[in-house]
Amino acid sequence: MTQDAEAKMQFLFALRSKGVMDKRVLEAMEKIDRGAFVKGLFAERAYEDMPLPIACGQTISQPSVVGLMTQALQVDARHKVLEIGTGSGYQAAVLSQLARRVYTLDRHRRLVKEAQAVFDELGLTNITSMAADGTRGLPEQAPFDRILITAAAEDPPGPLLEELKLGGIMVVPVGQSDAVQALIKVTRTETGFEYDELRQVRFVPLVEGMSAD
Ligand code: SAH
Repeated sequence: MTQDAEAKMQFLFALRSKGVMDKRVLEAMEKIDRGAFVKGLFAERAYEDMPLPIACGQTISQPSVVGLMTQALQVDARHKVLEIGTGSGYQAAVLSQLARRVYTLDRHRRLVKEAQAVFDELGLTNITSMAADGTRGLPEQAPFDRILITAAAEDPPGPLLEELKLGGIMVVPVGQSDAVQALIKVTRTETGFEYDELRQVRFVPLVEGMSAD
C-alpha cells in the first residue's frame, strides 16, 4: 500500500474509533479529500485526526469532530442546510455529499474565496458560499432543514433559531470562546426547542460583523 493510501485508511479508522458510525457520513468523508482543504506547511498532516491552522487565524476542525457533528445533524438528500463558518470549506464539502443544497457563510472574504475555488476544483456544484455575518443567518433562503454552526457561540443565535424549520435540527458549540464548549443539538418542535448536550468541543469564537479581510 502507498503511504497515502495507508494514511487515508488510518483516517477512516480514527473516525470509527471516535464514534463516527453512520455509513453515509463515513462514505462522504472517504470521498471528500481533506488534503484538498489544507494548504502549505500543514498539508502533510491533513489525514491526522487533528485541527489544523488555516488562513485568517482560523482552524479546520478535527475530522472526528466534523464526523460527529455531521452525524448528529442527520442530513438527508432532500435537505437544505446552512453552515455558519466556512473556514477551509471541508465541512461544507462533506455536507454537500449528504444534502440537496448547502449554503455556507464566513465573515472572512478571503476564506470564502479560497473555499469556493476548492469547491469548483472538486466539482461540488450544490454548495453556495457567501461572505456574510452568519449571526444574522440567511433570511432570503430560510427556513432550513438543518443548521450547523462551526464556531463557538455564547448562546444559539436567535435569528438562526428562527430560520430553523419545524422538526429541524441545529448543531452548535455553546460556551465562552476561549474555554471548552458544549456541543448542543437543538431540535425545533411544535412547542419550542429541545436541547441535547452531545460532548465537549473546542472551537474558535463566533464573532459578530464582517472581518476586514
Ligand atoms: N467549518 C470550517 C471550520 C470553521 S472555523 C472548516 O470545515 O474548515 C470557524 C469559522 O467561523 C472561521 O472561518 C470564522 O471566520 C467563522 N466565523 C466566525 N464568526 C462568524 C460569523 N459571525 N459569521 C460567519 N462566519 C464566522
